[in-house]
Amino acid sequence: MLKVGLTGGIASGKTTVTRLLVEKGAYHIDFDQLAHEVEKKGSSVWSEIVKNFGSSILEAGGAINRRKLAEIVFTNPDKLKLLNRIVHPAVIEEWKKRLREIEVRDKNAIVLGDVPLLFEAGLKDLFDFTIVVYTPPDIQVKRLMERNGFTEEEARLRIANQMPIEEKIPLADMVFDNSLPLEETKSRVDTLWDELTQRQREIHLKRRISP
Ligand code: ATP
Repeated sequence: MLKVGLTGGIASGKTTVTRLLVEKGAYHIDFDQLAHEVEKKGSSVWSEIVKNFGSSILEAGGAINRRKLAEIVFTNPDKLKLLNRIVHPAVIEEWKKRLREIEVRDKNAIVLGDVPLLFEAGLKDLFDFTIVVYTPPDIQVKRLMERNGFTEEEARLRIANQMPIEEKIPLADMVFDNSLPLEETKSRVDTLWDELTQRQREIHLKRRISP
């Protein structure tokens, strides 16, 4: 099994590259969905969040209103750290559980986790290999305006609130350039898939021959 962490900036193309790799045969574990699951009403994570952030972040039915929570942590790094400390251990447990389930079915699986804050949250060690999906800021702006209907100013503000994508590059094992049209990205994903398959074989071999 090869565990691949995909990251990048907002609208840099993580979802697009993930979808293309899944079409080639990769498994995908959605970290955002894992976070949703561990925060379900009544869970221990849910209780801790309510204890620390108050019941004003709850919806009428008792579920966590993730938009309200995001608004609080967006402008307060200490609160973001606190939230991560509460949520991450449970998400990591769930990630490991899903990996075990996949491994039982397919020992040679290539498993993708797309994690926007992979480096910021110190999650690199969960993966054998990390990839930054890179798109230059000007193209990020253009794609954000098209996808989300943002003005240029709104798009630039969203990008400015993140770790600059250039700073993520030296932290990753590989940079995947997604600045060109989709047809080019598809052909690059074919090459990337061959490389991941090769790495998967090497890892499998190493585990078989090492005591
Ligand atoms: P977010 O972090 O905001 O969820 P993301 O990194 O997952 O974004 P995507 O949703 O894959 O990014 O891509 C952002 C937008 O850019 C989408 O509308 C997508 O269709 C478009 N897009 C992605 N790659 C390309 C490409 N190579 N050429 C043209 N458009 C693209």
